[in-house]
Amino acid sequence: MDQNSTRLSPPAEPRDFGFYVDGKSVPAGERDVFLRNSPGHGCPVTRIPKCTAADLDRAVDAARAAFEDRRWSGLNGQARAAVLLRAGALIRERADEIAYWETLENGKPISQARAEVGGCADMFEYASGLARSLHGDSFNNLGDGMFGLVTREPVGVVGLITPWNFPFLILCERVPYILASGCTIVAKPSEVTSATTLILAGILTEAGLPDGCMNVVTGSGATIGQALLDHPRVDMLSFTGSTAVGRRVVEASGRSNFKKLGLELGGKNPQIVFADADLEDAADGVAFGMAFNTGQCCVSGSRLIVERAVADDVTQMVRDKLARAVVGDPLDEATQIGAITTDAQNSTILGYIEKGKAEGARLVCGGEPVDLGQGQFIAPTVFADVTPEMAIAREEIFGPVLTVLPFDTVDEAITIANDTEYGLAASVWTKNIDKALTVTRRVQAGRFWVNTTLAGGPELPLGGFKQSGWGREAGIYGVEEYTQVKSVHIEIGKRSPWIA
Ligand code: NDP
Repeated sequence: MDQNSTRLSPPAEPRDFGFYVDGKSVPAGERDVFLRNSPGHGCPVTRIPKCTAADLDRAVDAARAAFEDRRWSGLNGQARAAVLLRAGALIRERADEIAYWETLENGKPISQARAEVGGCADMFEYASGLARSLHGDSFNNLGDGMFGLVTREPVGVVGLITPWNFPFLILCERVPYILASGCTIVAKPSEVTSATTLILAGILTEAGLPDGCMNVVTGSGATIGQALLDHPRVDMLSFTGSTAVGRRVVEASGRSNFKKLGLELGGKNPQIVFADADLEDAADGVAFGMAFNTGQCCVSGSRLIVERAVADDVTQMVRDKLARAVVGDPLDEATQIGAITTDAQNSTILGYIEKGKAEGARLVCGGEPVDLGQGQFIAPTVFADVTPEMAIAREEIFGPVLTVLPFDTVDEAITIANDTEYGLAASVWTKNIDKALTVTRRVQAGRFWVNTTLAGGPELPLGGFKQSGWGREAGIYGVEEYTQVKSVHIEIGKRSPWIA
C-alpha cells in the first residue's frame, strides 16, 4: 500500500530522486546512489544520487548566475511574496505526500510529520509578508547638507546544510526567509533524509521561483557538505547540526572566503519545575519535551531541574505519563514515539544509557530498546539521582533520555541550568510571576518557555546563546540575517570644497 491508501505502509519499491539544479531534477545517471532504509521498517524506501564536486560547481554556478542577473532579487517584494504564497499553498496541497516521505526516511510519527508540514506552509505564508515589509532606515538629522540612508541588500548565494532530525521543518524555517531577502540557495540535506528537500525544490519551481534560485545537491556531509563549506563562490553558510561540525564550518569560513555564518548547534536544555507549578501540566510538558521526536531535537528538554520538595512526585508523574505514550510503527496514526533515525544515533543513545547506569544514576523507567519486530526503537528513559558532573547530565544525548536534578533555591536552579556549554532553549514551570521572570532573565538560552515547552511558529526567532550557535532564524530577524547593511550618505546642494 502507498500513501494514498487508508492504512499506510512503506512503498513496495524504493523511490528514485534526482538532485536539483537550475530549476530541473537531475537523475543519478552513472553516479553512485545512496539507498535509504526506513528506520521504522528496515526496508529500502528511497534512492538518492551521490553528487560529485562537478555537480556542486554546477549548482553554485546556477545560484550565482540567478543572483548576479537579479532575476529574483530585482523583483519587487510583491512579486516575491506571490511566489512564496503559492509555495505555501502547494505545500498544503501535497502535505500528505511530504509527510509520508518524511516519516519513511526519518522515522517520526506520521501525525507529527503532518503537523510539521502544516507549520512549514505557515512559514512560507508569514515570510511572504516579510518580502514586502523588509526595509531600511533613514537619517534626516544630519544637517541641511546631508541625508543618510541605511539599506538592506541580500547577502548573495547561501549554502544551507540541514540535519536529519527535522528535515522539512528546519529547511522551511530557513528557505522562505532566505528567499524573502532576495538571496539564492544551494541546499545540502542530510544524506539519510534528502527526499522532502528535493520535493520542496520542485514545489518552488511550480510556484514560479525563477530557475537557479533553489538548488539541491545530495550526498554525504563529509564529501559534498564539506565541499560546500569550502566553496569560494558561496557568500553565506547556514548550518544546523552538531557542535563538532559547527566548528568545522567556522574553520572552513576562515580558510576560504570568510563566508557569513548562521549556526544552530546542540543543546542540553533545562526544564525548571518549582513546587508551586501546576504539576500535572509540568509533568506532561516534561514528558513531551524529552520524548517529542524521540528526543532527537536540539531544543529537547533533556534536564529536569526540579524543586526538591516535589522531585519524587514529579518524577513519578513523568514516569506514569511516559508509560502511556505509544511507541510504535511511525506510519500508524496512533503512534506518539517513532523510530531512532540512524544506526549511529541508536548506538549513541544506548551507549549513554549504559554510561548513566555505570555512573550510578538510578534508572526510573525505560533504559532499553523496544522490539517491534522491525526498525529501531528505544523506550523513553528517565534517570534520577543524577549529579551535575555525570556525562548524562552534561552531554547532548539526542535521544529520549531525561536526567533529574533536584534544587532547593531559585539561585541554585539557575546555576544548575546555566552549568552547560550550551544555551539553546529552556522552560520554567511556576505560578509565581517573580520566579518566572527571574529565571527567564538569568538563564542563558535563545528560546524560553514559561509554563509550556516546544511552542513555536514563524513569528518568533530561533537560535542559541553560548556554544549553541550564532544568529537567528525565523521572524523578522530570520530575514535580516540573510541581508547585509549598506550606509548611504547623500550630499544635498554644493559640497564644501577640500581644496578651494
Ligand atoms: P552532523 O553535525 O554530522 O550532521 C548535520 C548535517 O551536517 C548533515 O547534513 C550532515 O550531512 C552534515 N555534515 C556532516 N559532516 C559535515 C562536514 N564535514 N561538512 C559539512 N557538512 C557536514 O550530525 P550527526 O548526524 O553526526 O549527529 C551527531 C550529533 O549531532 C547528534 O547526536 C546530535 O547531538 C547532534 N545533532 C544536532 C542537531 C541539531 O538540530 N542541533 C541535528 C543533528 C545532529 P550527512 O548527514 O549527509 O552526513
